[in-house]
Formats: sequence, C-alpha cells, structure tokens
Amino acid sequence: MTTEVVLTGTGVPHPSPGRAGPGTLVRCGRVALQFDAGRGTVLRLSEAGTPTTRLAALFLTHVHSDHLVDLADVAMTRWILRPVKDAGPLPIVAPEGAAARFARRMLEPYDDDIALRMAHVDAPAPEVALTTFAVRATPEVVWVSDDGSVRVSAVAVHHEPVEAVAYRVDTPDGAVVVSGDTRVCAEVEALCAGADVVVHEACRATALAGAVAGTTIETIFSYHADTVPLGAMAERAGVPHLVLTHLIPAPDTPDEVAGFVADVRQGGFTGRVTVGRDLSVIRVG
Ligand SMILES: [Zn+2]
Ligand SMILES: [Zn+2]
Repeated sequence: MTTEVVLTGTGVPHPSPGRAGPGTLVRCGRVALQFDAGRGTVLRLSEAGTPTTRLAALFLTHVHSDHLVDLADVAMTRWILRPVKDAGPLPIVAPEGAAARFARRMLEPYDDDIALRMAHVDAPAPEVALTTFAVRATPEVVWVSDDGSVRVSAVAVHHEPVEAVAYRVDTPDGAVVVSGDTRVCAEVEALCAGADVVVHEACRATALAGAVAGTTIETIFSYHADTVPLGAMAERAGVPHLVLTHLIPAPDTPDEVAGFVADVRQGGFTGRVTVGRDLSVIRVG
C-alpha cells in the first residue's frame, strides 16, 4: 500500500496567491481522508486527483472560518456530481459542539438552490453523514476504515478560546499527525510519538515578536504554534519529518521560506523539514 500526504491548502485567512485555505489530504491506497476544508479545497482536491466523490471521510479540527469555509462546497459538489459518480452522503467527523453544529447547518443557506436542483433533475436531497465525538485530553479512536487498516484518533489541543483537536492517522505504512490550529502543546507531542510525518501549523512568533509587540497580531500569534518551540517539541518527540503548514506569515521568497526552517533548527530540530506549498506530496514510510 502507498500512503501519502497532500497539502490541499497552506494558507490562512489573509489571502495569499497560490495558497488555498487550510487542508490536508491523507491517502492510503483507496482510502482518502481530508482534514479541514479551507478556501479552495474542492479545486485543490480535484488538482490532487482525489475529487470530493473519492473522500471516505472529512474531519474538522475546529470552527474558524478559514478551516471550513469550503465545507459546504465539498458536500454540494459531491451531491451535484451524483449523476456522474454516486458516492453517497459525505461522511463528516467532527468534535461535538460548534463544529458539529456548523456541519448540521451549513447547507441551510442553499435551501432554495437545493430545492430547485432537486425539482429540475428529480434528485434526492443532499446529505452528510455526520459522526461526532467528545473532545478529550487523551487520544481516542474516532474513525476506522471498513477493512480496519486505517484508524484516525483525535485529541484536544490548545487553541483557546477556541476548542480544537488534532488528529493522527495510523496506516499500514506509518502514521501521520495533523495538528490543526494549536499552540505548541504536550498533547500533540504525545500524539507524535512514533509518527512518520507531522503536519503542523507554524507561526513565526519569536522571529516577529518585536514587530508585533502590543498589537492585535500579537494576540493572534499567541494561540498559534511558535516555530522555535515547535522545533524543540518535534525534536523531543523524535519526529522524522516535520511539514509546516498554515504558514504565518505566508512566505513569498526563498529567504522567507528559509526563515521557517531556521526557526525550527533554532529550536533544536534535527529531522527533515518541509515548508509546505499547496499540493506538496509527502510519502509516508
Ligand atoms: Zn487557522
Ligand atoms: Zn484557528
């Protein structure tokens, strides 16, 4: 089997050319799992060769618009493609609370459009198959593939005041951790034990501390993962390959990309580092 990670979006709310909103695709053989659905996810999935009709499940990390603004598009596109490929309702896995509420309500603004499309081609209503789980401080399995070969676990992370989770995908080829949004935290460190690839959000808070001191940006930085302690955490956890995404600030030049690498090295990380770009593909195992 081949397991690989495809970054469907490495951006943040501030638009940056070439960077879709946050999202990570993990493919293991025929099992395709999407984590979050930021701006442009449907297009990036299509470009990655995994259209929405191929997703076995879509997992939400938390309710910040940048992570789920394209969720309805994923579900609607899957539904509209039904005459070409009937993939059934989109399975969504979400923490109980705000994320589950969002998934339940997301198609409501499309009521009129859906009614007209249904009448026009005699289609059934679009559905999502929502599975929710309680957010816990220790990892719990929240999804298992039909053949039992792929398991996804979730754990609470620290993105306060927003409740958020990180996920870990265990496959026969190895394990992938997807941090979602979080400060550097012990929960993700524990989740990384034995993982082959860690896709982690990254914010150059230490490098930019002087420039943002006393501003709202400093407050925003405070609930993201400072790249210097992130490097230290990844080293402690023995991470072989750290993939940085949700890049704050989005790097435009080689020097700006190198800044992210320098930060995690400053933190002591000695493994492989990839500063993510949209549609970067990372082999696992
Ligand atoms: Zn975010
Ligand atoms: Zn967030």
